[in-house]
This record gives sequence, structure tokens and C-alpha cells, in this order.
Amino acid sequence: MGYAVTIFEALHVTGGVLSYGIPEFRLPKSIVQKEIEALKGTGVEIISNTVIGKTLSVDDLLNSGGYKAVFIGSGAGLPKFMNIPGENLNGVYSANEFLTRINLMKAYLDGSTTPIHHGKKVAVVGGGNVAMDAARCARRLGAEVTIIYRRTEKELPARAEEVEHAKEEGIVFLFLTNPVSIAGNEKRWVTSITCEKMKLGEPDASGRARPEPIVGSETVIESDCVIMALGTSPNPLISSTTAGLDIQKWGGIITDEQDGKTSREGVYAGGDAVTGAATVILAMGAGKRAAEAIDAYITE
Ligand SMILES: Cc1cc2nc3c(=O)[nH]c(=O)nc-3n(C[C@H](O)[C@H](O)[C@H](O)COP(=O)(O)OP(=O)(O)OC[C@H]3O[C@@H](n4cnc5c(N)ncnc54)[C@H](O)[C@@H]3O)c2cc1C
Repeated sequence: MGYAVTIFEALHVTGGVLSYGIPEFRLPKSIVQKEIEALKGTGVEIISNTVIGKTLSVDDLLNSGGYKAVFIGSGAGLPKFMNIPGENLNGVYSANEFLTRINLMKAYLDGSTTPIHHGKKVAVVGGGNVAMDAARCARRLGAEVTIIYRRTEKELPARAEEVEHAKEEGIVFLFLTNPVSIAGNEKRWVTSITCEKMKLGEPDASGRARPEPIVGSETVIESDCVIMALGTSPNPLISSTTAGLDIQKWGGIITDEQDGKTSREGVYAGGDAVTGAATVILAMGAGKRAAEAIDAYITE
């Protein structure tokens, strides 16, 4: 539409989860790079290594920055943990950290300045698409990998094809199993994960059968690396530094569904920052609808 547009990105590389989360074998980074180059070719300026909410605030952009409108597309990158004993041991990662070290920092290459702990027996906790990606990455780095999920295969939230691919690669699934603690050695490196067996009870608030622990069913699974893939929520950095920006209890920015308008004049939002972890196509759609609304706002 002819506007001067600047993207401020916290990391040194743009592309969001497409660059640092989704593994190369599912989405080659050269494709993402081509899209970014095409965007730059239209005149969009990208300023990386800039954390909005720390380096600059949304108000800085609107006031001294001279921007007429701001679109927040900061994703949902804050990982959830179980808060069980031992979760802070060495060798325990969030799936985000594990995948970022591999995809963005190329930690699997000899001589990489960002190391990754090459576990031989890796336990991945969770059953979504991110758990499948983390498990397949660990497997391709040479580990025996077990996915630990507290419900049954029927309730797995991951796409069926992702589960099938994980199985084809030799990943083992432990269903109706839930971690209760993680143990480590004297140097605080993880050595095992203790889990209890579960049974399915009445449906919970999500409509899915509630997993309930079976008393006295604890088993110890040897593991030298544990990856927590339990979901993510929006990072509160921008919402906590932008006065008057209304958010949901779980951190999602509240917007008008049609055009991404937030409670702050001239501030729009979309993608995972609004919906919580969702899909690429939904995020792209939200960006396009917000761009039209921003044009209308500026020209009205
Ligand atoms: C491992 C994994 C696999 C996935 N696989 C698929 C898939 O196969 N298909 C699919 O459709 N979806 C998939 N998804 C979901 C999809 O990637 C997301 O829904 C989508 O990327 C959301 O786009 P977004 O632009 O809202 O956020 P993001 O892609 O998360 O981008 C947000 C960007 O904002 C930056 N940022 C955050 N905070 C700040 C700040 N304060 N200042 C400046 N910059 C900031 C981040 O660094 C990031 O670059 C997957 C997600 C993960 C984690």
C-alpha cells in the first residue's frame, strides 16, 4: 500500500517460529529466507536484536518513533513447565530452547558456539506437534527417544501424520504416563525421570477425559536428557510495558477478531500473541486483516 514499514525483531534472525522452531527437515530454512528477502525487496526495513518492551516500548514507537500505528505479532514463546522436583537440572530443556539451539544456532554442527547436550536416552514430555518435532530432532541426533504422554494415543493433540512419522523413525510412546520428579547425579546432570501410571476419568473442562494417577504405580525411566513440550503462552513483556493494552487471563492480547484492533488506539495485534499457539496460516491471515484495518485507520 506504499507505507514505510519497519519490523522490530528480538532475535538476530527473522522468521519467528518458522526460523527457530520448525525443524529444517519439515520446513527448509532456504524457503523462509526467500520469503524474507521478497519482503525486504518490497522496501520493508528489518531491525533485528531489538526487544520491544526492553530496547524500545510500543509508546516509544508511537511517540518519538513517529510511527502512525503498531502491529504486535510477538507470538507465544513462553514455555510451560510442570514445576516438579528436578526440573532445573542440567540436561532438562523446554522444547523451545532445544529446538532453537538446533534450528537457529545450528548446535548440532561441530564447532558451533552454542552447545547442545547430546543425550543418548531422551525423554520428551507432551503429545503435541512440538513434542513430535523435538523428539524427531533428538532421534536424528542419535538418541533413543521416548515420548511420555498422560492420556492415550486417541487423545494425542499432534497431527496423525506427525505421530506416524515419529513412529517410523523409531520413537517409542509411553501413554497414560505422567512425570512426578527428575533425578540427577552429583554434578546435577539428569539421570532419570520418575513417572506414575494414569487412568482416564470423567471429562475435564477441555472436554477430554481427565487423567488420574494410579497410586503406587511409580516407575523410574533412565534418561540423560528431558525435553518439556507442554505448550507455550504469550510472553508478558510487551503487554506489561504497554499501558492500557487489555489481555486475557492467560496473557493473550485482546483484539477485535475482524481487524486485530486492540484496546490501545493505533495498536493492532495478531497471530499466536492473540490466539495462543496456533498455526502459520492463521497468523498470516491476522496480519493481512490488520494491515487493511491500519490503512483504514491512517487514512480515515
Ligand atoms: C516446533 C513448532 C512446530 C510448529 N509446526 C507448525 C506447522 O507445522 N504448521 C503450522 O501451521 N504451524 C506450526 N507451528 C505454529 C506456528 O509456527 C505459529 O502458529 C506461528 O509461527 C505464529 O506466528 P506469529 O507470527 O504469531 O509468531 P512467531 O512465529 O512466534 O513470531 C514471533 C516473533 O516475534 C519475536 N518477538 C517476540 N517477542 C518480541 C519482542 N518483545 N520484541 C521483538 N520481537 C519479539 C520473536 O522472536 C519471533 O520472531 C509450530 C510451532 C512450533 C513451536
